[in-house]
Amino acid sequence: MTALLANAVSPRPVEPAAAASPVTCDVAVDLDGVEERVRVVEAAKAEGPRLEDAEIVVAGGRGLGVSEHFALVEELAGKLGGLAGASRPLVDDGWIDASRQVGLTGRITRPRLYLAAGVSGATQHMVGCSAAKTIVAVNTDPDAPIFRHARYGIVGDCVEVLRELIRAVDQMEVT
Ligand SMILES: Cc1cc2nc3c(=O)[nH]c(=O)nc-3n(C[C@H](O)[C@H](O)[C@H](O)COP(=O)(O)OP(=O)(O)OC[C@H]3O[C@@H](n4cnc5c(N)ncnc54)[C@H](O)[C@@H]3O)c2cc1C
Repeated sequence: MTALLANAVSPRPVEPAAAASPVTCDVAVDLDGVEERVRVVEAAKAEGPRLEDAEIVVAGGRGLGVSEHFALVEELAGKLGGLAGASRPLVDDGWIDASRQVGLTGRITRPRLYLAAGVSGATQHMVGCSAAKTIVAVNTDPDAPIFRHARYGIVGDCVEVLRELIRAVDQMEVT
């Protein structure tokens, strides 16, 4: 076995001229026949209103049950003049595109109102909405973490509550 004492060898100083003159060399790369150099897996949608600027966000989570119910989130958001957001599983499952994801790996929102329907309130989601002025949560589980962040909580089926809220807004528009 060979051993070396610490500081037994001094480093050799680098020649200033050598350090300042990088060695360059040409490398021939033949790209003939290569059809695809960059593959766009998912195009980022930059156009249109952004969640980051929305005053009102209605967000849906896995508690919506089926993708068709996300239309209720979009409808209510539209009627309130806001935008629809989503938790990550909905984006992962293709219910909605990634520009609508709220959270750590999504968008950071700061709306006046954040209505979370069927969202559990995982830390990674809350990073994207805890700066909201008012959070309203709808969840069937009274112990769901989201209720710790919400100013108003409704324990119930978010699909029913979304339908009721849409009806209520419609009635307000009529009267
Ligand atoms: C590195 C990393 C980054 C992540 N980044 C993000 C991110 O940016 N955004 C994000 O959202 N997540 C992110 N996640 C995932 C996150 O940890 C959670 O898994 C996710 O937020 C859960 O989504 P959810 O609340 O919709 O689903 P779930 O956790 O499955 O919660 C569904 C909720 O709906 C309730 N529910 C069920 N049925 C009904 C009903 N009929 N009516 C009302 N409520 C109902 C349930 O009680 C439950 O609370 C990340 C995870 C990791 C590891």
